[in-house]
Amino acid sequence: MRIDIVTLFPEMFEGFLTGSLLGDAREAGILDVRPRNLRDFATGRHRQVDDRPFGGGPGMLLMPGPVVACVEAVQSDPSAAAPGRVILLTPGGRPLDQALVEELAAEPRLVLVCGRYEGFDARIRETLGAEEISIGDYVLSGGEPAAMVVIDAVARLVPGVLGDERSARDDSFSGAERLVEGPQYTRPREFRGLEVPEVLTSGDHRRIARWRREQAAEATRRRGSDAEPRGATSQPDTRQTERSMP
Ligand code: SAM
Repeated sequence: MRIDIVTLFPEMFEGFLTGSLLGDAREAGILDVRPRNLRDFATGRHRQVDDRPFGGGPGMLLMPGPVVACVEAVQSDPSAAAPGRVILLTPGGRPLDQALVEELAAEPRLVLVCGRYEGFDARIRETLGAEEISIGDYVLSGGEPAAMVVIDAVARLVPGVLGDERSARDDSFSGAERLVEGPQYTRPREFRGLEVPEVLTSGDHRRIARWRREQAAEATRRRGSDAEPRGATSQPDTRQTERSMP
């Protein structure tokens, strides 16, 4: 799989791309990840990539010229098989979830474009036929951490990246039901008075599988009832009230 990153800060990716799973996958030739410096496509004497928004307002926007030129240069690289799915990282984009991660992992190539300042001129998306992805309902100062999140989540689904493919299959949000993982335990069997559940040391694999399934379903239910609906206005926390009642 090939992933190109368009960024004003390619150096932010150095440690990220050399460490751990990603470093190994790149060395093994399973993943080819290439940061590309947007500044190389800046124009004018001041190597400008941003300008003030029409209509006024604070901050600066990335200008369409340099971003589009950079993405087009990246896409026309003859060493890549496909032009790639172009993704702008934006707070208002499609929320990243495991289903979307699976979809992206099936692509031969992604081009991730990291915003900065107040974001992108709207014509960038239109010109490139790009989509937008958000990693959550909060605002970062740049798209680079968001691109790293996308790359990390996608890479572990690329065949050969994880040592044991079962890890990804059994992970939270995977499979048809998209359950979260239940509690897990390692040694010691007893820690500060807390025992590992007996079933896990029973050696009875069917019982263990059933227990894990039940725990996952329970953890998923609990998470669902704890989660605030998207965009909910703040409600009084009734759980606190219930707990403090006699
Ligand atoms: N003015 C923009 C808005 O209100 O939507 C925020 C711009 S933000 C300060 C700068 C850049 O960080 C964005 O262009 C985007 O690339 C990135 N970014 C910030 N939050 C993000 C998120 N939740 N998901 C993905 N990218 C994000």
